[in-house]
Amino acid sequence: CRRLVLVLGDQLWLENPALEGFDPACDRVLMIEAASEATHVWSHQARIALFLSAMRHFRKALRDQGWPVLYLALDDDNRPLSFQERLAQVLGSLRPETLWCCEPGEWRLLALLQDTAAACEVPLKLLPDTHFMCSREEFAAWAGTRRELRMEFFYREMRQRHRVLMEEGEDGRQPAGGRWNFDADNRLGYGPAGPGLIPEPLRFAPDAITREVLALVRARFAQHPGSLEHFAWPVTREQGLAVLRDFIDVRLAAFGPFQDAMWTDTPWGWHALLSSSLNLHLIHPREVVDAAQAAWRRHRLPLQSVEGFIRQVLGWREFMRGVYWLDMPQLGQDNHFGHQGKLPAWYWTADTRMNCMRQAVGQTLAHGFAHHIQRLMVTGQFALIAGIRPQEVCDWYLAVYVDAVEWAELPNTAGMALFANGGRFTSKPYIASGQYIKRMSNYCEGCAYRPEQRHGQLACPVTTFYWAFLDRHQRWLAGNPRTAMMVRNLSRLSSSERESIRHHAAYLEQRIDRL
Ligand code: SF4
Repeated sequence: CRRLVLVLGDQLWLENPALEGFDPACDRVLMIEAASEATHVWSHQARIALFLSAMRHFRKALRDQGWPVLYLALDDDNRPLSFQERLAQVLGSLRPETLWCCEPGEWRLLALLQDTAAACEVPLKLLPDTHFMCSREEFAAWAGTRRELRMEFFYREMRQRHRVLMEEGEDGRQPAGGRWNFDADNRLGYGPAGPGLIPEPLRFAPDAITREVLALVRARFAQHPGSLEHFAWPVTREQGLAVLRDFIDVRLAAFGPFQDAMWTDTPWGWHALLSSSLNLHLIHPREVVDAAQAAWRRHRLPLQSVEGFIRQVLGWREFMRGVYWLDMPQLGQDNHFGHQGKLPAWYWTADTRMNCMRQAVGQTLAHGFAHHIQRLMVTGQFALIAGIRPQEVCDWYLAVYVDAVEWAELPNTAGMALFANGGRFTSKPYIASGQYIKRMSNYCEGCAYRPEQRHGQLACPVTTFYWAFLDRHQRWLAGNPRTAMMVRNLSRLSSSERESIRHHAAYLEQRIDRL
């Protein structure tokens, strides 16, 4: 064949630049399912199922328009198991003039593609991924030689460049509502009465293709973490667009103020649940941002909610992707604090008496989803203050979330939650005691521990580890204006109190699998 177009599992859109100019008479599409991609981190069953189902639906979309697709299914046991071997086998037998691919979203896969094509002596043509609103080159130019990168400034430039939430004033350069950032209005808890009635998000009963995939995952990956029982994620572009419409119409207005709130048995809150569709490239961030902006302009949805949401998509998401490509492979190895602790076993089972962890990990295992504050301030910050090795934590995040692709997951986990790169793009480590979790949720009410106690049998492990972390790093934290107040609070504790905290933290570290 002339051009062999490799479409990876997170590149499922027809405008994929590698498909531009595709000629069905002499070109072919190649899609590869491989067990190695499900096992290279110990993937959640729902994550495996989502990728496979979305890929098989995309195969159908390609074939429906008459394009030839060579599709290597996981259950084709005549093939080797690894992605690399499968690709090499096809290159060896088809001998295409050129292998085309949109650049992968993962550093490991990029290297693997380049190596395999070179070993098979097939020229590789990589196309820039146009599924983002900031190209890698644009981001690198913005970052320049800055040692510290700040999302806020990047985000403001993106708002201006793409004319998003800008006032029509003389130069069109003023942010809507006179402020760039409505974060301060967007940190409410649900209050003592709880979240009330939150409409169920749009979910999709598995069709024949998905049912086939679920059976395959059950048969092949039964030992993997997580459940398939509730699998209802969008697996096609149409479904992704339906989730977007539903979010805009039903959920966005309340999303802003409550985006950080948590509550027992409330896995979705008012969140959008669009990240998996975005990261598989089923829907484009431009259409997501446009839809949110139109809801504000035409339907007068609250600006604090619309801005809070657009900040996640146009700001954080693009920023994370830019940082990933700038800082790899170092980002995957950084360990600013030299943490070497093992990931507690209950991250894989939710079998812990800490209710906040049981809730966050439990819903993760049930659905492959937790929202950003559960990831940042519950599972993430615990791993930071308990001194867990960043690479183990990052592997866990990459494995257990349906939206986890490495360019998004690694900077969020290593850089944001774990401060493993020493604050390259965050101005402080995100740490808080159990009192913060008590304020933002009702988790503490159903817990065996007490959030206000720093040591002793009933002491909240989050609280103990928080104070012990401050104690360990007090000199460094005192020098940072954003954490100096925490150290001042520490200095008000008596030396015997501090000694008790250290002692109890050491005790907890010893029995971390049994908290
Ligand atoms: Fe989590 Fe501590 Fe609250 Fe328990 S008391 S739910 S461990 S913050």
